Amino acid sequence: MTPLDADVAVVGLGSWGASALWRLASRGMRTIGFEANRIAHPYGSSHGHTRLFRVACHEHPGLTPVARLARDLWYELGGISGTDLLHQTGAISIGPRGGRALGNTATALAESGVDAEWRTIGELRETYPQHAALPDHYEGIWDAESGYVLVEVALVAAVDAAKAAGATVYERTAVTRVEPDGDAVLVGTADRTFRVGQVVLAAGPWMSIMQDLVSLTAYRAPMLWWRPTASPEDFELERFPAFIRHYDDENTIWGHGSVGDIPVKAGLSNDPRSKIAVHPDRLERSVRPERDWAGSAEVLDWAVPGLGPMPYEVAPCMITESPDKQFVVGRMPGSERIVLAGGCSGHGYKHATAIGEILARIVTDEERIVETDFMDPLRYA
Ligand SMILES: Cc1cc2nc3c(=O)[nH]c(=O)nc-3n(C[C@H](O)[C@H](O)[C@H](O)COP(=O)(O)OP(=O)(O)OC[C@H]3O[C@@H](n4cnc5c(N)ncnc54)[C@H](O)[C@@H]3O)c2cc1C
Repeated sequence: MTPLDADVAVVGLGSWGASALWRLASRGMRTIGFEANRIAHPYGSSHGHTRLFRVACHEHPGLTPVARLARDLWYELGGISGTDLLHQTGAISIGPRGGRALGNTATALAESGVDAEWRTIGELRETYPQHAALPDHYEGIWDAESGYVLVEVALVAAVDAAKAAGATVYERTAVTRVEPDGDAVLVGTADRTFRVGQVVLAAGPWMSIMQDLVSLTAYRAPMLWWRPTASPEDFELERFPAFIRHYDDENTIWGHGSVGDIPVKAGLSNDPRSKIAVHPDRLERSVRPERDWAGSAEVLDWAVPGLGPMPYEVAPCMITESPDKQFVVGRMPGSERIVLAGGCSGHGYKHATAIGEILARIVTDEERIVETDFMDPLRYA
């Protein structure tokens, strides 16, 4: 029998794949990772300095334990790399009293044994005057465990930790074929075919074109940074912490204050002008004001005045949505040797280290450490 080149291959070393590689290699598994671009490139989903880290995840109550696991592993990875990757500087969620978003946030906290720290409209207006035009029926929840996590720095840290634990990494090496072959899987690149025991497919937006078992859609989602026109100190993180704010019944603005050289980050979720389904290889890299930032500028102009009429920096990025906007993480239905890790649905970075650990446990058939049924691809089978 032909010997295996590795126990596991990870295809795609964005935030999820890099974390999976680290968690697998640190168990002593023989691992190889393939990245079509260089490590920490700006062409997928994992770039742009920072991502919001929230423990009270309104997207699904099952995500709070995942975020807590991620938190512990961000600190572990930070310890290995000697860099503070996670900054728990707190975050405020703002929305209509009795609304779904704040309700889900409070539920997520309650299910993990934490009482929500509610803020009245008076307290919000006094503490966060940057948030203008807050309606009287709005209130907030302060989540001290939230904050932000570094992106490129953390991704490099995960790849370095994986390499230090024995992983082999092929950069600028696209995988062109993944094919079950008896008790192994063949992983093909332009130069070579590798025979491995299992494969983790963590190709981010490219998952939308790589497998057809679960319907995933890649969307354009630009990131925007702003330089305040006056009083920049009012928009520093200490005074203008990470936030998610409903600006109408359905939609949110999100962001955080400036940190060192990183300007204020703010934008709309689901901006209908910029959220366009894309083929990941054909994402237009140039920026068009009408499409990419005019919608955000219009809302921020009245909701967070003082950020300026136009962004300081714009970077195209992508999110990959699943039909129920939950992750797709688990064994590929019908395959014992291929594990899917996609469908980040725009909220996956904070959980990356936990997703890596979850994937490692799936590959090694270890006991689950958190509930994962809600992200299992089997739910679509
Ligand atoms: C504007 C915006 C704001 C966001 N805000 C937040 C936030 O505040 N908090 C949060 O938690 N999340 C947020 N997210 C989501 C988060 O960024 C993503 O969930 C996360 O980065 C997804 O990482 P990934 O590893 O799945 O994908 P990627 O980072 O895209 O990684 C996939 C990798 O696979 C590689 N690849 C693809 N095909 C192949 C192949 N055939 N062979 C080899 N390699 C391949 C790609 O080059 C890429 O490097 C945001 C996303 C956007 C766009």
